[in-house]
Amino acid sequence: MRIGIIAIQGDVSEHIDAVERALCERDIGGEVLEIRHEGIVPRCDAVILPGGESTTLGRLIEREGIAGEIQNAAKNGIPVLGTCAGLILVATRGDEQVHKTHQHLLGLMDVKVNRNAFGRQRESFEINLDLAFLDSPYTAIFIRAPAIMDAGPEVDVLSTINGRIVAARQNNVLALAFHPELTPDLRLHHYFLDMISVT
Ligand code: GLN
Repeated sequence: MRIGIIAIQGDVSEHIDAVERALCERDIGGEVLEIRHEGIVPRCDAVILPGGESTTLGRLIEREGIAGEIQNAAKNGIPVLGTCAGLILVATRGDEQVHKTHQHLLGLMDVKVNRNAFGRQRESFEINLDLAFLDSPYTAIFIRAPAIMDAGPEVDVLSTINGRIVAARQNNVLALAFHPELTPDLRLHHYFLDMISVT
């Protein structure tokens, strides 16, 4: 099993570490591939888009020819996980009217996202979240987090905070507004790895 992590910008090493721990816990062979240029995504069984700065990340994956490869992989059923800035990138619709910068989006999930949806007052926070597929709360770390403000009918909403969607899934695409790689609790990684084995 090969898990590719977009390793151009953002909290890449934390993601690598968390995926390696999850693979180890499951006792299955697996390899983490760092994706910095084209040609790697087609070899992956799953792709992770980390947190970071979504405008920069979007521009760089486009420039390196990785964006189209991720879109093809997703179309072929390869699981894609977007966390924080990665959640913004998987969306079909952003909030360019608010942030004047042009945002490259991959358009893999029928959602409208707002960047920094929790405002400056609450730049970073930790909260116990109920997630639809877990039987006990998950402590989630939010850092200048986006949120999904609107989701199409194909999207399964997995968790919300005050009406804002912070976890969602559309078929093989999983989007989380928080950082599962920053907590020792690997349940979300296991949920994602389960998506691979069934495809
Ligand atoms: N607010 C950032 C952005 O818009 C995302 C923050 C994060 O990934 N921790 O790109």
